[in-house]
Amino acid sequence: MLITCPHCGARDRAEFTYGGDASVPRPELSDLDQERWADYVYLRTNPRGTLREFWHHVAGCRIWFIAERDTVSHKISATQALDDDGSAER
Ligand SMILES: [Zn+2]
Repeated sequence: MLITCPHCGARDRAEFTYGGDASVPRPELSDLDQERWADYVYLRTNPRGTLREFWHHVAGCRIWFIAERDTVSHKISATQALDDDGSAER
């Protein structure tokens, strides 16, 4: 299976690691509510269909990016670079 890194192009799946659901909004860093942070880190809905996810090209450029992956077929339909602030336009 090949994954297209937005910076390096198509590479083998073994060069990448999954980083989690990119659709869950992260609390502000100044937010000290432990329950809100626990929900952000651990609670997931595990939906069927296309999901925006963080992926890391760990054995390549070592840059995080967004991939749109079908959770049933595992086919990745698109990848997108992150902005400097870690966000990505939809
Ligand atoms: Zn890369």
